[in-house]
Amino acid sequence: MRKRLVLSVSSLIFAAVAAVFSFSVFFFTSSTLNQGRAEARHMASIYANAYEDGIPIDSTVFPAMFGLAILDENGNPRQEYGHNLPDDYATLPEVQSAIESGEGEAINDFDGAFRLASCCLRTSGPDDGVYYVYSLIGVELYGPSFVNFCVSSALVSAGIIAIGILLTYFLSGLSFKPIEASKVRFRELVENRPLTPFPKAIDKPSAEYYREVDEASKALLAARKSLSDEKEGIRNILDSVSDLIILMGEDEDIAFLNLAAGKAFHLDVMKYHSLPSLGFPKAIEASIRKHRKVEQTYDFNNKTYALRGYMTPGGYVIALADISFEVNGEKLRSSFFSAASHELKTPLTSIMGQAEILSLTPHPDALDPSIASIEKASNRMYRLIEDMLSLSRIEFGHREVKGPISLAKPAEEAKSALAFLMEEKGVEVKIEGDFVYPINYDDAYSLIKNLLENGIRYGHKGGYVILTFLPNGFTVADDGAGIGEVDKQRVFERFYRVEKSRDKASGGTGLGLAIVKHTMLSYGGKVSLESSLGEGSTFTCVFPNVK
Ligand code: ADP
Repeated sequence: MRKRLVLSVSSLIFAAVAAVFSFSVFFFTSSTLNQGRAEARHMASIYANAYEDGIPIDSTVFPAMFGLAILDENGNPRQEYGHNLPDDYATLPEVQSAIESGEGEAINDFDGAFRLASCCLRTSGPDDGVYYVYSLIGVELYGPSFVNFCVSSALVSAGIIAIGILLTYFLSGLSFKPIEASKVRFRELVENRPLTPFPKAIDKPSAEYYREVDEASKALLAARKSLSDEKEGIRNILDSVSDLIILMGEDEDIAFLNLAAGKAFHLDVMKYHSLPSLGFPKAIEASIRKHRKVEQTYDFNNKTYALRGYMTPGGYVIALADISFEVNGEKLRSSFFSAASHELKTPLTSIMGQAEILSLTPHPDALDPSIASIEKASNRMYRLIEDMLSLSRIEFGHREVKGPISLAKPAEEAKSALAFLMEEKGVEVKIEGDFVYPINYDDAYSLIKNLLENGIRYGHKGGYVILTFLPNGFTVADDGAGIGEVDKQRVFERFYRVEKSRDKASGGTGLGLAIVKHTMLSYGGKVSLESSLGEGSTFTCVFPNVK
């Protein structure tokens, strides 16, 4: 910057000095020529007077390079003295001008360094005739005095240029000082080095400038400190949690790793690591690399983690929460659920068989209510065990999907199976449309039967249940009791009942909606509920990847 300023000011000085120099040369040459011209005129007038007075001309007193001629009225030479005189006077413009107006003058080239200044004046001779005196004098244009002039001018010019450059350099140095000092200051701020104090200000504006930059630097340092304190605080908080937290910056660099993550991945949190150091499976790594959202379980270090990866303005966050306890607990609970159901089914079947035998065998009438109650209770228990086993099958069992099936078929079958209940409750069931989807037939049947059964069970006399197939699933709507806001969140839980006494009396097992929810989840689908108390309910089942 400074160099450029010095350079441009120097070129300006140089151009100005060059212009002055050329003007001086022009002035010098034209004044030399004017001097020659005046001398020629002076000599011509001296000799014109002398010729008029009849004084003889003495050429021995002529100055160097001087020539003189006396011309007649037509411009032809009568007498000639000295050097360099022309051959044909009459054609010369200065002679023609003298014939016309009484005087004429001219400057002509001679040789390189010389010019010839000539002057022609009208005069009268001793015989009172018309004559012309023609004088010619050599003018040395580029002689030693010109060289002297040039050398001294060049020296003066060089001096002026040098002083100009030095002055510019010095002055620019003064005005660039604050900029240079700021440059140093900014570098120190960026590199987090101790600040060098500013030099003494040479004037008021510089002092003001230094003061403002000083204040800004201090504010910046304070902001940086509070930011790093805040960062430290956040780091401490993150270090104190048991979840594994990793922040990935650009180029897969790990910008932050909390203590728990460092321990789990066997990485030193103070050292540099990149994404591959975490050793994720290829698919997860690819998703993270493309900054995709990841949400899945991840088995690692003999534990099960809920892995979440998502992009934030600060980088890509990878968080792993240890859910081994929940997963193991859930597995244990489910396997207990399944084993207990199996174990209960055998003795129950035997009780049911015995009760049937008892009812068919002649017995005292007084035993009728007891036998009926055993049959009712064991039937209810049987349904419960069946539902529990269905749930276990959904969670653990592999249900074969042969290909797309038309769901209208299991729907009609379920409707037929519920005919008795429909009649008992006085509720009508309608099925509209069809939906074809790759699903296990029993799953489709149990989904629809559970929802239709609930619609009938919790409906009212003269009410309806409508199953409508959609392009991506179906809805089951009824105009029954409806479900309140709080219960809506929980009805899909196992054994959750809205109104304990009412539901038990209704004959439900408390597992129907849990079966619906888990069946839908096992297909990657979802069940949702829209309902309000007294205004009926609509259950919507939506399946993924519908073509
Ligand atoms: P249940 O076998 O008791 O019907 P579900 O899991 O199928 O168990 O349903 C849970 C609870 O949700 C039921 O006990 C009932 O209170 C409520 N519920 C389910 N479907 C309906 C419906 N269509 N209308 C009103 N309440 C319902």
